[in-house]
Amino acid sequence: MLACAGARLGLKTHVFAPEADSPAFDVCAARTIAAYDDEQALAAFAAAVDVVTYEFENVPARTAALLAGLRPVRPSPAALAATQDRLVEKELLAELGIATAPYMRVDDAGAMARAVAQFGRPSILKTRRFGYDGKGQALVREGADLAVTFRSLGGGPAILEAVVPFSREVSVVAARGIDGAFAAYDVCENRHENHILKLTTAPARIAPQTAERAVGLARRIAEALDYVGVLAVEMFVVETAAGEELRVNEIAPRVHNSGHWTLDGALTSQFEQHMRAVAGWPLGATDRRGREVEMENLIGEEALAYDAVLREKGACLHLYGKAQARPGRKMGHVTRIRD
Ligand code: AMP
Repeated sequence: MLACAGARLGLKTHVFAPEADSPAFDVCAARTIAAYDDEQALAAFAAAVDVVTYEFENVPARTAALLAGLRPVRPSPAALAATQDRLVEKELLAELGIATAPYMRVDDAGAMARAVAQFGRPSILKTRRFGYDGKGQALVREGADLAVTFRSLGGGPAILEAVVPFSREVSVVAARGIDGAFAAYDVCENRHENHILKLTTAPARIAPQTAERAVGLARRIAEALDYVGVLAVEMFVVETAAGEELRVNEIAPRVHNSGHWTLDGALTSQFEQHMRAVAGWPLGATDRRGREVEMENLIGEEALAYDAVLREKGACLHLYGKAQARPGRKMGHVTRIRD
C-alpha cells in the first residue's frame, strides 16, 4: 500500500524482503529478496534508493543501523530500537511521564513468581520482542504453573503486565514531518477478536477532551523520538471517578492496521502520509470523510466471501494478494463510510 501510494505520486518503490512471495512485490518497481543480515544485498539496495523506510518493526536494529550509514533511514533506527522491545518502550513512556499498564521485567522463572505476587492473577506475560496479534503473550490464570507459563513463551526476556480494566481500546495514528510538522487522524476505536484486530471505527466514542489528550500523548512520543513518518499509539481507556483516563499499550513505528480506514475514509491515507513524510514533503490533510468510517478486517477464510463485499454498495474492498488464507491471517479489509 505504501508502494501504491508512492506510485500515485510518481515515486518508485524498491522493496527489500526476505520472503520470495511478499505481496508488495506485485506492486513495486524493483525488488530484492535477501536476508536482513545480508550485508552485500543491503549495500546494493541502499545504492539503488534515495531514502529507506520500513513497515515492520521486527527489522533487526543492526540492519537499520547499517542502512543508516548509507542512506537516510526514516523513522530513525533509534525510533525502531525504542519500539521493538516492550521493556525499552515502557521505560521511554515512564521517562515521558505517560501512564501504561503496571509492568515488571521478567528474565527468569524467579522474577516471574515475584511479578505475579505483585500483580496477582490474571496478569499478562508478554515477550519483549517479536509479539503481534496476541502471539508472544500468555494470560497467567488462577492455578496456572508459573514456570510452565514462562517456558510456554520460550523462556526468553519478557515483561509481566497487570490487567488494565479498560472500557475501550483506541489508537492515534499520526505523522511527523522532517520539519517537525505534526498531523493526527481522528482517534479511532478498536475491537479485537481472538487478540486480532477485527473492527476499527473512527471517530472513537470518547469525550472530546480525552481525544485531545490522546493526540497530545502521541505528539509527545513522536517529538521525543524525533520521529519522521507515520506512527500509531495504542491506548486503553479506563473509566475512573475523575472521568476517562488513558494508558498507552503499544507504539508502532509504522503505518498501522487501525489506520487502514484512512485509505478511503480520510483526505490523505496513512500510506500517502508516510510516503510524504519520509520523502521530506509536506504532510497532507487528515480530515475524515463522512460522519463515521468503519474498517473491518477479513481474517483467514472470511476473505473468500469477497464476492458479497463487491456487491455491497459503497463498501471498499482491499485484498492483499496473500497466497494462502490461513486461520488468523489478515487477508484484506473492507472500509465503509457512513454519511
Ligand atoms: P498487544 O499485543 O500488547 O497490543 O496486546 C493485544 C491485546 O491484548 C490488546 O489489544 C488488549 O486487547 C489485550 N491486552 C494487552 N495488554 C493488556 C493489559 N495489560 N490489560 C488488558 N488487556 C491487555
